[in-house]
This record gives sequence, C-alpha cells and structure tokens, in this order.
Amino acid sequence: MVVLGGGFAGIGAARKLKDVDVDVVLVDKHDYHTFQPLLYQVATDLLPPATVGHALRDLFHEQSNARVHKATTAGIDLEKSEVRFADMEPLVYDYLVLGLGAEVNYFGVEGAAEHAFPLYTLPDAVRLKEHILERWEAADKDPSLVDDGALNVVVVGGGATGIESAGAIAELYRAIFVDDYPDIPQENARIILVEAGPEIFAMFKTSIRRYAEKALEQRGVEVLVGEIVESITPTRVSLKSGTQIPAHTLVWGAGLQANALVLSLGLDLEKGNRVVAEPDLSVTGHPEVFAVGDIAWVTDTKTKKVLPQLGSTALQSGEHAGENIARLVEGKKTEPFKYFDKGTMATIGRGAAVIQMPRGRTMKGKAAALAWGSVHLALLSTGEDRAKAVIDWTWAGFTHERPARITVRTDDT
Ligand SMILES: Cc1cc2nc3c(=O)[nH]c(=O)nc-3n(C[C@H](O)[C@H](O)[C@H](O)COP(=O)(O)OP(=O)(O)OC[C@H]3O[C@@H](n4cnc5c(N)ncnc54)[C@H](O)[C@@H]3O)c2cc1C
Repeated sequence: MVVLGGGFAGIGAARKLKDVDVDVVLVDKHDYHTFQPLLYQVATDLLPPATVGHALRDLFHEQSNARVHKATTAGIDLEKSEVRFADMEPLVYDYLVLGLGAEVNYFGVEGAAEHAFPLYTLPDAVRLKEHILERWEAADKDPSLVDDGALNVVVVGGGATGIESAGAIAELYRAIFVDDYPDIPQENARIILVEAGPEIFAMFKTSIRRYAEKALEQRGVEVLVGEIVESITPTRVSLKSGTQIPAHTLVWGAGLQANALVLSLGLDLEKGNRVVAEPDLSVTGHPEVFAVGDIAWVTDTKTKKVLPQLGSTALQSGEHAGENIARLVEGKKTEPFKYFDKGTMATIGRGAAVIQMPRGRTMKGKAAALAWGSVHLALLSTGEDRAKAVIDWTWAGFTHERPARITVRTDDT
C-alpha cells in the first residue's frame, strides 16, 4: 500500500493498517508532518518551527509494517498502478492513498504568486516570520520606510486562516514590538484584513462574527469587507475599488486548490480541482485508489453534505480509507464514510476564541480559548510536541514574550 502525503489524511490511513498484513510505504516531499493549524504561531514567533513540524519517521517507530521515504511525487499512472518520483525509483502498488493536500490558489491576482506570503507550509511560516522581522529592523534603521508602509500588513481572507493570522500579528505588534522598537509609533504600523464577501467568518453564526470583528478592532486590526484585492507589488496592494494601500507585506489566506498533480490523472474533479471521492472514499473507476483530506471532494454519507477542508475531515477520511483497505485485504466489502462533526473553532488572539458546535451552540472568549488550546494540544503528534507547545504558550501567557523572534540564517557567519 502506497500512501502519498504525510499530513493528517496520509498518517490517518497508514496508521489504520498497523495490524494488517500489508507493507505500508508512506512518501512525503518533507521528512516531517506539518501541523498547519498552528503555522500562524510560527509566523508570529510564538512557537518555534520544531513544535509544529514533527519527524515523520518518528511517528512510525511502533509500526513494523510501515516505511517512510522523503521523495517528491512526480506522476501517477493509474492504469499501471505505478507512482513516479522526482528523486526515487518508481513504486508499484496494490492500494494507493492520495493524501497530497492542497496548495494556495491566488485566483489569478496580479503579482500575488511573486509577492504574497501564503501560510500553508512550514517554509511559508518561517519566510513570513523572517520578512516581518526584517522589515522592522529595516525601519528601525531608516524611519522613512515607515511612511512607505514597510510595517503595514494586509491580510487577505476573512476565514479562519486570515483572522487568526491578523489577530496574532496584531498582538505581536501591539504587545511585543511596541517595546522592541520604542521609537516607532504603533499607529504607523497598520494591520488590515481584507475580505471580498460582505462579512468575515462567513461559516459562523452572526453572534460569533460580531464578536470576532470587535476582538480584531480591540487589537488594532482594520477590517475591510466587500473589497477585492486586484494586484500586488512588493510595496503596494491595490483594491478593485481603487484604493491603494502602502504595505510591504501581504499575507494570503484567501483560497486553496487541490495539489496540481491531480490535473494529470483524468479523474472527476470538483470545485478547486478536488478529486471526487465515492461514498467509500475510493475514486471513480479505481476501487484500489482512495482520495482523502484536502485533495478530495468528500461527502458525508450521513448528511449528504460536502465536507470542508479541515484537519478533522482529513484525519477521519484518512482513517476511513485505511479501514476500507484493511477490509479489502481481508476479502470484505468497503463501508461508506460517515463524518463525526465535533464543531468548528478558531482563535483571534489571547483569551479570544470562538467555537460553533454541530447543533449550533456557540462559545466565545476565554472559555473557548481554553477549549481551543486543549483540542489543538491533543492533536499535536506526540506528548513531546504537546509539552513544548504548553511551555511556550504558558511562557507567552505570563510574560507576553515571544522567544522565537530571532533570525538564524545558515548563510550567516
Ligand atoms: C494556516 C492554516 C490553518 C488551519 N487551521 C485549521 C484549524 O484550526 N482546524 C482545522 O480543523 N483545520 C485547519 N486547517 C486545515 C487543515 O490543516 C487541513 O485541512 C489538513 O491539514 C489537511 O490535511 P491533508 O493530510 O489532506 O493535507 P496536508 O496536511 O497538506 O498534507 C499533504 C502532505 O503532502 C505532501 N506533499 C504535497 N505534494 C507532494 C508531492 N508532490 N510529493 C510528495 N509529498 C507531497 C506535503 O508535504 C504534506 O505533508 C488549517 C490550514 C491552514 C493552512
């Protein structure tokens, strides 16, 4: 069994095969699993990269039938049951799990691919962190850069990624940089959240949206709704309405599309090029191939609803695909996928989170922040990762410190 991708989906699938008589080969282009929900904390110096990236090999020490390879998938021949890699010999499979995730969709916005800062991978988070630190250091030496917008950040997208990033950047600025750079007035460092739709947090109830707007405003984030980004240069963001914002940083949290590899497979694709998964999560015409997580268009067979690209969807769909492969190996029939909805949550900043339960109950503020923290801690790969995150969060909670805000470069002396 070949599993492509070591995200929640791929890991979930591989782990379900632990006690089954198969050889499991998991391949990822990185040698680590990325915990995407906390990437914004790396970008804003709250957590070091090693807390949200965990060695993939380490996760399979206890699974004797599993092997991990670091290699980049270059192509898949569904007819020959073969996967080609850019840097490894091809693998032939009996069963294949497609868990290659998604990639950023810039929707053709001019200059976005060149100048925007996405937040989808660990290198993305480190790049953004280093860029923000570099801009503040540059402005510290040359104050004229401040008037040019060197410290302004435009965050595109009023969903969870955009809101969490805007809130965290605001706290970094208002609680830390205010003391790090006492000669630079904070009012000259704007954080602007731009959302094309009429409201931020469209997936949440009205009371949560109002709460989020207020929490962002309290942190000094300007929220612009009904505005569409038209083009980006390294120092300017132009909106369709004609407004031009001087900003040297644009964080892109506005959209995803499935991994581009799917375009060559001849499979049924849905919105965002997601591979349509059958009720048992196999792909049409290939009962031996399963599509799971962000790469897939997964429908909950209980509610008939298409599921959002979330960690819980990825983990549950990956695990279900693994269980179905186990059934096939044992000569049994596959089962349809039923999603267990545990609710949706997001955080806006310290002590400010929101939760919407499956039946519509909501939670906001400190209690929601505590619940958010414990859920995310529980999802981190190992006890060691959890301990590291707790120490960093507790430290930051008491001291407001961001210990990870140093720049270490390998090309430095
Ligand atoms: C900033 C951010 C915040 C989020 N916050 C939340 C949240 O709070 N709650 C929540 O539930 N969800 C959240 N999500 C969504 C959630 O993280 C994803 O839905 C989930 O991680 C998808 O898992 P996956 O396994 O499908 O894909 P991924 O985790 O993306 O894994 C895909 C893997 O495939 C590998 N890969 C890609 N291309 C290749 C290739 N060509 N060859 C080899 N390997 C390859 C990648 O390296 C990666 O490890 C967030 C996402 C982001 C980006």
